[in-house]
Amino acid sequence: MKKIQMVDLKSQYEKIKTTVDASIQEVLDTNTYINGPLVHQFQKNLEDYLGAKHVIPCANGTDALQIAMMGLDLKPGDEVITADFTFAATVEVIALLQLTPVLVDVDMTNMNIDIDAIKKAITPKTKAIVPVHLFGRAANMDAIMEIAAEHNLYVIEDNAQAIGADYISKSGTKSKVGVIGHVAATSFFPSKNLGCYGDGGAIFTNDDKLAHIIRGIVNHGMYERYHHDVVGVNSRLDSIQAGVLNAKLPLLDEYNTARRLAASKYNAAFAGNAHIITPEFDANENDHVFHQYVLRIIDADRNALLQHLQDKQIPCAIYYPIPLHSQKAYVDPRYKEEQFPVTNQLVQEVIALPMHTELDDEQIKFITDAVLEFLNK
Ligand SMILES: *Cc1c(COP(=O)(O)O)cnc(C)c1O
Repeated sequence: MKKIQMVDLKSQYEKIKTTVDASIQEVLDTNTYINGPLVHQFQKNLEDYLGAKHVIPCANGTDALQIAMMGLDLKPGDEVITADFTFAATVEVIALLQLTPVLVDVDMTNMNIDIDAIKKAITPKTKAIVPVHLFGRAANMDAIMEIAAEHNLYVIEDNAQAIGADYISKSGTKSKVGVIGHVAATSFFPSKNLGCYGDGGAIFTNDDKLAHIIRGIVNHGMYERYHHDVVGVNSRLDSIQAGVLNAKLPLLDEYNTARRLAASKYNAAFAGNAHIITPEFDANENDHVFHQYVLRIIDADRNALLQHLQDKQIPCAIYYPIPLHSQKAYVDPRYKEEQFPVTNQLVQEVIALPMHTELDDEQIKFITDAVLEFLNK
C-alpha cells in the first residue's frame, strides 16, 4: 500500500508535472516574476470559473481577509461577528484592524456559524458578519444575507476551505460559494482544495467600486502611480504561483469530485456505527468539497482513537482543538461559556481523517478498518 498521508501533494504533482513545469518555465523564460501576464490570466480564469465580476489576487488568504475588510468603510470599534470554531486567521485580521471581534457559536449539524447566535449578537455597533465555509461546506448564506439586509451589515465570506463548492439557495438557484456575500477571501495555501506551491490568496467581489478600492489597497494604496490615496499594503500573488494555479484550476472540479468520492466511501464504511457521526452531504450536488473530512466521535475516547491511528501510521488531526473564545489572544470578559455549548462540545469530539485527491480504495479500507477496530472493541 502507498504510504497514507494527510495530504498527498507529491502524487498529485506527478500527474500534472508537464503542465505545471511548463508554466513555471514560462515565468523564468520571460522574467515576468511580479504582476506578469500569468497573474492576469489566472485572475480572468478564476473570474470565469466562479462567475465573479472581480478577482483580486494577493499574497495569502489571511491578507485576502484583511484587505477585504480594509476595503469596507469599517471603523475601529465596529463589531464584526464570526464563528468561534474556525482557524484563527479569521478573527486575527478583525482584531488587527482594531475592529471588535464578536465570536459566536456554531451549528451542530454543519459546524458553521449558528444563525440564532448571530441574531443574538447583533448590537447597534455591528457592521459585518464573516461566515466561514468550514471544511468545505457552505454556511447558511440565505439566512445570513437576510440578517445582513435587515441590519445593513456587510458579509465577508471566508472561502479558504470551500473553493468550487456550490451553494443552493432556498429558491433553488445555484452559485459558487464566495460570490454570495459582498466580498470573499480565499487561500491558495498548498493543502487547500486549489493550492499553489507557496503562498497565495485572492479576494472576490461583484461590486465594481469595492473592487477598485481593493486593487489600490493591495498596491500600497496607489490608484495612480506614486499617488497614495489610502493606507494600503503590499500583497501580491507572484507569477510562478499564478502559473501553478493556471495549471490546476481546470482540474479543480475533478479534484473536488475525488474528495467527495473519498468522503462517500468513508461515510459508507462508518454508516450505522453508534460512536461515529459522519458529515452530511448531498451525493447529487456539489454542496460540500471536503477540504477536511471530519467525524464526531461519541461516547468513546477520541484522543485514544487519535493515538491508535497514529500508531498505525495513519495521519489524522484535530481541527480545531481550542475554541477561539478560549485562546489567550481573543479572550474577552464579555464571553460566557454558556454562549458556546456547540463549539465546546465539538473540540472534544472532532477528528479529521486523511483527505486529498489521491486516496485509493486500499488506503480508505485500511483507515476505516483501523477506526472501526478501535471503536468496536
Ligand atoms: C487557510 C485559512 C486561512 C488563511 O489562509 P493563508 O493563506 O494560510 O493565510 C483563513 N481562513 C481559513 C478558514 C483557512 O482555512
